[in-house]
Amino acid sequence: MKLKRTRKERTCKECGAHIAKGDLYGQRTITIGGGKSDEDSLSDYAIENKAIVIERLVVKQDICHRCAEQH
Ligand SMILES: [Zn+2]
Repeated sequence: MKLKRTRKERTCKECGAHIAKGDLYGQRTITIGGGKSDEDSLSDYAIENKAIVIERLVVKQDICHRCAEQH
């Protein structure tokens, strides 16, 4: 994982450690949800009203350099 130097304070999402200004940190992208879209799972109401269904949510998580090196 590529490490960067942070310009602001962060918290490691892996171990909860404090990442101070100037420390190295990594960023991991995780995907919540996903899977193949399944129109049958949508109700007729949702389809008729063009409801937007969020299938995937991509989130970036800050992690400290110690955790980053373990992955
Ligand atoms: Zn950590």
